[in-house]
Amino acid sequence: MEYEAVIGLETHVQLKTKSKMWCGCANAFGSPPNTNVCPVCLGLPGVLPVPNEEALRLTVLTGFLLNCEIPRFAKFDRKSYFYPDMPKNYQITQYDKPSTANGHVEFEFNGGRACVRITRAHLEEDVGKSTHFERNSGVDFNRAGVPLMEIVSEPDLTSADMAYEYLNALKDILVYGGVSDCDMEKGMVRCDVNVSVRPKGAKELGAKIEIKNMNSFSGVRRALEYEISRQIEVLTKGGKLIQSTRRWDDVAGITEEMRTKEDAHDYRYFPDPDLMPLAPTDAWLAEVKSRVVELPLARKQRFMRDYGLPASDAQTFVWDVPLGNYFEGIAKKSKNPKPIANWVINNLRAKLAEANERRTGVAPVSIEEDKLETGATLVPQMTLADLKFKPEAIVELAGLVENKTISSSAAQQVFAEMFETGKSPAAIVREKGLAQVSDTGAIEKFCDEAIAANPGPVADFKAGKAAALNFLKGQVMKLSKGKANPALAGEILERKLKG
Ligand code: ADP
Ligand code: MG
Ligand code: ZN
Repeated sequence: MEYEAVIGLETHVQLKTKSKMWCGCANAFGSPPNTNVCPVCLGLPGVLPVPNEEALRLTVLTGFLLNCEIPRFAKFDRKSYFYPDMPKNYQITQYDKPSTANGHVEFEFNGGRACVRITRAHLEEDVGKSTHFERNSGVDFNRAGVPLMEIVSEPDLTSADMAYEYLNALKDILVYGGVSDCDMEKGMVRCDVNVSVRPKGAKELGAKIEIKNMNSFSGVRRALEYEISRQIEVLTKGGKLIQSTRRWDDVAGITEEMRTKEDAHDYRYFPDPDLMPLAPTDAWLAEVKSRVVELPLARKQRFMRDYGLPASDAQTFVWDVPLGNYFEGIAKKSKNPKPIANWVINNLRAKLAEANERRTGVAPVSIEEDKLETGATLVPQMTLADLKFKPEAIVELAGLVENKTISSSAAQQVFAEMFETGKSPAAIVREKGLAQVSDTGAIEKFCDEAIAANPGPVADFKAGKAAALNFLKGQVMKLSKGKANPALAGEILERKLKG
């Protein structure tokens, strides 16, 4: 029998706020343990939470970005359980009245388009972090109370690869929207993976297996590949699957059972009496809506459509937003944007990287804030804002190649020079005498010389060896010191040899 996988993801994302969810402590990564804490986030008796409005805005903004409905009534609930990293013994979350619901996200998959429905994106709080030493354990509460958003998908994903692409698309959207930095290394995105299998085409869902707390997308993909084939194998051998929770062992590359649903928690959800329900007004929603940005997929399609770019170029401009904006600024001024994109992607980007390599002695990497604190000397990276030439110079340069004033190899020289000095392409061409010779008289002279000096290839060409013409053309280019218009040289040579 053939089986198919059914996958739904619960993705937790730390929001990009300055302070925590219920107190004024810093929402910062990498501080010494238990330095960003106060009575509120330590859950001391008698404290009261004050909601972080920016976290609410970012949650609703996510709702807009994921095409969700924004209910006019939402509330916070307490989810009770005991764990040493959670000082209040309950987590504040949104249970039956979340801030956003019923959305969808579109992304590229398998050469086409996939759409996954979003059940909800709700707001909750992160917990502390336990570290286990040889003989004892420690808890760091810096992370306790950091605003955390949970994005729940419908079980619309059908393969490990599709889940991987969904997660990447989600991350791109959240980074674009300024909702979260989604830095995986800092644990800003964590995922619970729900997966079942069923006979292909069956309507009913199979027993749901949940793999908890995955912190890398490639880990999610590997865990799913393993778990899907494990489940199919169990069923193929006549076994039964029961709803359960498993753990992914990244080193061994296997999942193992943690608990079955029988001993699942009863979280005893109830509305948090310390927090007012949420009733967003039209004006508040309009303010949040004004922060909606163009999504990565839409940007890619727009670049392909408006500037006639291939998908790979458009994708580069999606990943490198400043470079894309720079390109857009000048592409609008040109009738032929494709060569402009080539200059920006292949030459400008390479030159910038090269310049930064010279400054730091290492290939450029993004320098993270927390590395700064270790005293590493920071050499400022050269950016597009530091360029000596005006953006329009690239349009001018592309024009000079297009109208055959200069050859493409001369154009490389011009670009290098304008990058170093900021001089205009026309001035550089003049100074260095790089203009192509399109004066037929001059080229005829070079052709005559080449023909006279190379009787062998001339005879070859006359005997029918077309390739000999390229050799002679090369000789003309050499005699002209690279300045002859190659197309013209070819034409003249051919005319002389055939005539
Ligand atoms: P629970 O109430 O146990 O948390 P939910 O219905 O809220 O379960 O679903 C949690 C996640 O699991 C969602 O992302 C959902 O799409 C997914 N899911 C639900 N049932 C299945 C199933 N049978 N197989 C795979 N994923 C599922
Ligand atoms: Mg759930
Ligand atoms: Zn605090």
